[in-house]
Amino acid sequence: MKRIGLIGGMSWESSLEYYRLINEEVKLRLGGLHSAECLLYSVDFDKIEFYMRNNQWDSIAEILVKAAKTLETAGAYFIILCTNTMHKLAKQIQEEITVELLHIADATADEIIKAEIKKVGLLGTRPTMEQDFYKIRLEEKGIQVIVPSEKNRETVHEIIFKELCLGTLKQESKSAYKMIIEELVLMGADGIILGCTEIPLLVKKEDSKVPLFDTTYIHAIKAVEKSLNL
Ligand code: GLU
Repeated sequence: MKRIGLIGGMSWESSLEYYRLINEEVKLRLGGLHSAECLLYSVDFDKIEFYMRNNQWDSIAEILVKAAKTLETAGAYFIILCTNTMHKLAKQIQEEITVELLHIADATADEIIKAEIKKVGLLGTRPTMEQDFYKIRLEEKGIQVIVPSEKNRETVHEIIFKELCLGTLKQESKSAYKMIIEELVLMGADGIILGCTEIPLLVKKEDSKVPLFDTTYIHAIKAVEKSLNL
């Protein structure tokens, strides 16, 4: 089993899910008392969110490169960055380390292709929905990506930072997300990417009539498969 390095804390609510999912999957595959060999470098999210809000991506890159290098030095065989949004910096991080950074959008694209879905709706933070760094990774693989309207993007983003990253799960926010998913389906989406690692805490399979692509789950399972050489 190869050691997985996790860069987490963005937010820790979802890192907890990664840790659970990775260990459950190792147990499922290997049985008995097996559990995952992994290292977690968890950052202080308050600082990251401040820099993000103020568009200081270089300051975030400095923190994440340091985390990645620390994990590499500590013996991580490969690294996963436990957030979709921070993959905006994936290239910069990868350039500073020799081990692989297993990209969350690539893992997600593989699952969408497997499901033979050509057009997906993307829910996530504003940078994930509005900038190119994430969508392009999917589009390069022939997947068409659509996002909610401006007003609904604002709603999706606000719920992530004011509730989900703080561990708050509200029924009214779940209803808002369901409505936004419905809007994307009406726009032609045959699947929905839960492209923020906290959204699956609130939105479940039964909340959508089209398949949901839970990026936390997909990324965690991909990491286990790589760790076990499957
Ligand atoms: N965990 C979130 C994501 O998957 C949002 C928090 C962040 O900005 O990293 O994008």
